[in-house]
Formats: sequence, structure tokens, C-alpha cells
Amino acid sequence: MERNNEWVVLLRFDPGVDSSRVRAVLRKLGKSGPGDRGCRWHAPEFVCVSLRNAEGPRAAREARTMPGVSRAEAVLASRGLILGRSRGAARVVGLGDGKVRVGGNVPVVIAGPCSVESAAQICEAAAMVREAGAAALRGGAFKPRTSPYSFAGLGERGLEFLALAREKTGLPIVTEALDPRDVDIVARYADVIQIGSRNMHNSPLLFDAGNHPSGKPVLLKRGFGATIDEFLNAAEHVLLGRWCAGHSGGGLILCERGIRTFADSTRFTLDLAAISLLRSASSLPVIADPSHSAGISRLVPGLARAAIAAQADGLLVEAHPSPSRAYSDGKQALDSREFRRLMRDLNMHHKGTKA
Ligand code: PEP
Ligand code: MN
Repeated sequence: MERNNEWVVLLRFDPGVDSSRVRAVLRKLGKSGPGDRGCRWHAPEFVCVSLRNAEGPRAAREARTMPGVSRAEAVLASRGLILGRSRGAARVVGLGDGKVRVGGNVPVVIAGPCSVESAAQICEAAAMVREAGAAALRGGAFKPRTSPYSFAGLGERGLEFLALAREKTGLPIVTEALDPRDVDIVARYADVIQIGSRNMHNSPLLFDAGNHPSGKPVLLKRGFGATIDEFLNAAEHVLLGRWCAGHSGGGLILCERGIRTFADSTRFTLDLAAISLLRSASSLPVIADPSHSAGISRLVPGLARAAIAAQADGLLVEAHPSPSRAYSDGKQALDSREFRRLMRDLNMHHKGTKA
């Protein structure tokens, strides 16, 4: 987070609030008006006001009594919501009906193919990972691809197929939103909205995903060129979205998925220290993605074990019924036998799924 020790007041105004009321509140906080450089607007009725030489909690208390203000809270700019809150409820994120808990005492595995390819493929993958003990199903319907000529997912049809797989297996589904315009439709189908590595810096997407009225939790992957500080700031955008919408708790899972280093024998380099660091620094659950880190399926089990040893709250693993025929990331996908063996070795079967 930014290293200054200023207070910031998060201000949520009533819907359709009169601009004169907004101005009165901002003046009370020492600002010239909505365009003051100390005012950062994230949504039409949500502003973060940086205070200089003023005590945040008192300013927030005063603002709360003023007409037009629905909520006000003071945070330190250096700590934000992500570091400022104590551990507790935010640490555990419930998926779907809440039976799958990420950040509890038991690490969980979210698994499935890189992309949703057809109803048959995703249903087969879902059955396969459920049988082996996965707690949730992953699969992309909107795919970020490096080449503009590669398969980029089935869009809404892919989401429908994921919903079908959930119906057949009971597994909650995790799928990516690529663009602020996708958030609504992804939230309609998904149990968790994934934001990928390439989008970690896309602040409107981060805010909108957190701010969605559904309150669906967000799984945020670390940008492969991002520092821990940048990752925490990205997470803060999601938490601000959730705060603005009035969603309680953390509702956010962080995912270390490998960073780019000089090592070119693997796709990326899993930053193991980041897992422990993020877990102790933030109040949020942290999972690891050994598949995108390695890029090579036979390296996945070792990295998975290492991530759990580094205290990850769970894993995001790519698994495909037929990796050689996968439309994307087949080289890093585990097949049915490999995935079963990994789950057996890790002893991470989710209660409620067959071992
Ligand atoms: C994915 O999980 O399918 C994905 C695209 O991962 P990342 O954003 O980490 O590259
Ligand atoms: Mn992938």
C-alpha cells in the first residue's frame, strides 16, 4: 500500500443524493468540492477523501451525521481495508451454499480445465475432479489469450455449460470475468468471479467485481509482473467495491500464480514466500496455482505440495479428461489418474465429495 500515514474517509452517499449535500459534506472534511484533488471518486456516489492533518475516525463520525451520507468509515492510507482489519470473518470465504470454505482449517482444491470447451467436456471434467475430492470446479468461458488468433472461450454458452456441470455434481464454480462488461453475466452464473493475472491492474474491473450486487466472492490472481505491494493495492480496489455495495466480510481470495523471472525452463516461477507473506500480512485467504506457475504437468504435484507447506489455504489446479486434446493449456493439465494421485498424496479430499 502507499506508505503515507494519512487518513482516508470512505464516503457512501445515498442514491441520487443532491449535489449540494455532497458539497456540504466535502467542505466539512476540508475539501473545496467534488473535484478536489483529495477526492477519489470510484462510483457516482462513492468517494475516498484523503485528509491532511485531520483525525480520520472523528471526521467519519461527523460525516455520518450529515444528510445524504449513508456510510462513512476512516482507514489509514498505509493500511487500507486490506491491512487495517483484524483477522476473523474475512479470513474465511464461503463458496456457493457456504459448505466449501476457503481459509478455514482445511485447505481446499479448486480444479478443472483451463477452458470450457463443450457441455460434455466440462461435465466429464467436473465428475472427474469431484470423484477425486475437489471442492469446486474451475473453467474459463471468457479466456485471456496471448495470441489474438487463439481460442478465447465460449462466452455465455460456456457459463451455461458450467452451470450444468454444477447441477450434475454440486460443485461450486469459479470462472473468469475479463472485462467490466462481463461482470454481470459472470456473476449471474458463477459462485466465484475470477480476475486473472493479466487483469490485476484493471482497476475498474476490480472495483466492479467487488461492487456487484450479488456479493459473489472474487478470486484475484497476482499479476505475473506485480510486486506484493501492487497485488495488495489491487485487492484493495476489490474490497472498496465490496464496501461500496455494503457487502460484509472479506469476500476475496488471493491467488499466487507464479511471476516472471529469468528462469525460462518453466512458464513462470511460483513465489512461495509470497504465499506466507500475504497470508500473514492480509486478513484474506491465499491460494496457489501450481499449474500456471509450472506450465508443465509433471511439475504440478511438487509445486502443489510446496504451496501447502508454505501454508496456502488451497490450490487452483488445471485438470482435463484428455489434456492432449485441450483447447488451451493442455501441457500443464493433469489427467484423471494424475489428479487422483495428487489428491491422494495431499490428502485434501473435500468432505462431501467422494475420495
Ligand atoms: C486461468 O486461471 O485460466 C488463467 C488464465 O490464469 P492466469 O490469469 O493466472 O494466467
Ligand atoms: Mn489456463
